[in-house]
Amino acid sequence: MGAGVIERYAHWLPVGPGTPPLTLGEGDTPLVRSKVIEREVGAGRLFFKLEGCNPSGSFKDRGMVVAVAKAMEAGYDTVLCASTGNTSASAAAYAAAAGLRSIVLVPDGAVTQGKLSQAMAYGARIVAVKGAFDEALAIARRLGDGYAVALVNSVNPHRIAGQKTAAFEIVDALGEAPDLLFIPVGNAGNITAYWRGFTEYRDAGLTGAAPRMMGFEAEGAAPIALGRPVSDPQTIASAIRIGNPASWRGAEQARDESGGAIDAVSDDEIIDAFKRLARTEGVFCEPASAASVAGLIKTAKGGADLSGATVVCVLTGTGLKDPTFAIQMAGVEAEQSDADLESVASLLRLPQKVAGA
Ligand SMILES: *Cc1c(COP(=O)(O)O)cnc(C)c1O
Repeated sequence: MGAGVIERYAHWLPVGPGTPPLTLGEGDTPLVRSKVIEREVGAGRLFFKLEGCNPSGSFKDRGMVVAVAKAMEAGYDTVLCASTGNTSASAAAYAAAAGLRSIVLVPDGAVTQGKLSQAMAYGARIVAVKGAFDEALAIARRLGDGYAVALVNSVNPHRIAGQKTAAFEIVDALGEAPDLLFIPVGNAGNITAYWRGFTEYRDAGLTGAAPRMMGFEAEGAAPIALGRPVSDPQTIASAIRIGNPASWRGAEQARDESGGAIDAVSDDEIIDAFKRLARTEGVFCEPASAASVAGLIKTAKGGADLSGATVVCVLTGTGLKDPTFAIQMAGVEAEQSDADLESVASLLRLPQKVAGA
């Protein structure tokens, strides 16, 4: 409990005696059975992997702890990343824990308040780049090549290595791999990492099969589904608003080797899935995360028979990352009342308690 992924999965990670035992208690996130959506899509069993329960609120922590520990081991005093928000929050958190400096490049005006507030609180130096995420990443890569900073984007192989531990946890919890894994796709590092985790476990005999990998982009930012880069990606799901993913090949490999698919869901489908998750499952995730469940619902509507299948949807980040979105989607305001019993009771019009019941 709380040991973190480096300690729990050291044997599977590029770490050694010289790697600092960094952790903020990442990983070991809940795998929760669906109560309603499982029935609606006709799945045998449906689980949600709640990656928003990681220390900075997204799955990015799994890879960041390894990348920052390796940066420390290599003697760096500064880590750098480009980010749609969660990578910067995670990098800043682990840099703070490790006593390193962090610099984050974010697309100007395109990062949610929740995520930006984290980078600020953890003490990152924040540079708002007047361009899209893809441009910020191109600059970050060149800074990483030419300057004395450790680049901790998912082009850093230690990130992918750490993120594959989520696949290990799913197999460890279920006793075998699921039949299908639904996952949002942005820069495509995570789908690449999960596939690596499942195939490493399979090759070691810890699961008989690996799941079909079902990746979902947002329709306005769907380069892999379309087969070409998107120059002006658009979607309400800012964490997957990416037009030229760094791990494009890895995503295609996961799709092709697993017999899976990479498809796109509309913003309306993402919003519908977000609302269903919150209201019928009690699970509050950020909009990008809901793309996995939107993809599952789309797949079921398309006629897929899921009746005997064990299905896992990865919910990549917590809903608190984007409160503005959640408030807009709810479209309600608090009802006002005077601060006395009669006022609240008459507003609520609750039935009286029955004596003896
Ligand atoms: C980073 C992120 C994604 C996309 O993951 P990739 O590895 O870039 O494909 C999806 N959802 C959330 C919440 C994220 O932070």
